[in-house]
Amino acid sequence: MSSIKHLARETVQALTPYLSARRIGGTGDVWLNANESPDCSEYQLDSSKLNRYPEFQPHSLITAYADYAAVKHSQVLSTRGADESIEILIRTFCEPSADSILICPPTYGMYAISAETCGVAIEEVALADNFDVDYQAVENSVTKVDSQVKLVFLCAPNNPTGNILDRQKLIALLQATKGKALIVADEAYIEFCPKLSQADLIAQYENLVITRTLSKAFALAAIRCGFTLAQESVIEMLSKVIAPYPVPAPVAQIATQALSKDGLAVMFERVKILNNNRQLLQDALQDIDCVTEIFQATGNFLLVRFKDSVKVFAAFAKNGIIMRDFANKPRLKNCIRITIGTEAEMQATLTTLNSL
Ligand SMILES: *Cc1c(COP(=O)(O)O)cnc(C)c1O
Repeated sequence: MSSIKHLARETVQALTPYLSARRIGGTGDVWLNANESPDCSEYQLDSSKLNRYPEFQPHSLITAYADYAAVKHSQVLSTRGADESIEILIRTFCEPSADSILICPPTYGMYAISAETCGVAIEEVALADNFDVDYQAVENSVTKVDSQVKLVFLCAPNNPTGNILDRQKLIALLQATKGKALIVADEAYIEFCPKLSQADLIAQYENLVITRTLSKAFALAAIRCGFTLAQESVIEMLSKVIAPYPVPAPVAQIATQALSKDGLAVMFERVKILNNNRQLLQDALQDIDCVTEIFQATGNFLLVRFKDSVKVFAAFAKNGIIMRDFANKPRLKNCIRITIGTEAEMQATLTTLNSL
């Protein structure tokens, strides 16, 4: 028996850590389990000032992201991936053992994990039958007299179902929850459907927060760089809680290059290619016998329900194709999430399915 285990906080002792795609692992050459981009760009690194602490929020990085997202410089905070943004929001707005966050499952797993590690309760309002947000139920939950909900996490495109937000219903929710809770729209995949961003609503709604990342469409998962967009009042509060030097200088340098005119052009081209590959996959899946349902195609992934996902998953694994299994999640029986990769990787995926 370990002699230190009992020293950890009770919530930590009881915690099941987030099983990231990387931790689950798998063997093979075709990595379609973590919604990463299949390609990688080259970057320059200036190491002449690595002896110095970096700027709190590197000016050129924040300016570049603000320009890209069409918000003000003062409305952007850079974090260690969008995951850190989620955690900082909870640590800033939720009192441990008192307040709660609201999530709409099935959705991204880190909201719940971060809340748990912070000792913050989780309220669930399940997605509707079609996996859209149940706006009325969310509003009822936040506005009821004894509600402790401070943060509502809405993921759009939703990982893993691909559902998006209804702008008018979001606006109504923002109005109804004003002064009671913040609505966080997680736009990790918004580059794949940029017209559906809600970032422009930040100008009007103080209780809207948008989280973004360079891990998906920007093909920079390794550098751990994300952004929070919100009005100045929110950014100021978050800045009190975040670490003193949250953005490593090499990360800022690479991210700034990715957000330059040339860097953005590479990203836009990648999105075009991946959205095209997704369409190819989606069209071909319609004609495959073991497929029973294809979820909404909005990000660089596609959730697919099969007649027998265990058999399908095993066939992929045998051919060195690593996918993300959702079959054990409530309401996602027999579902596998396929990351959109290169055209060759999509063909390999289809070849395996056609061989069943
Ligand atoms: C991948 C992902 C994130 C995490 O992004 P990082 O910047 O890599 O931490 C956040 N939200 C959703 C919905 C994601 O799929």
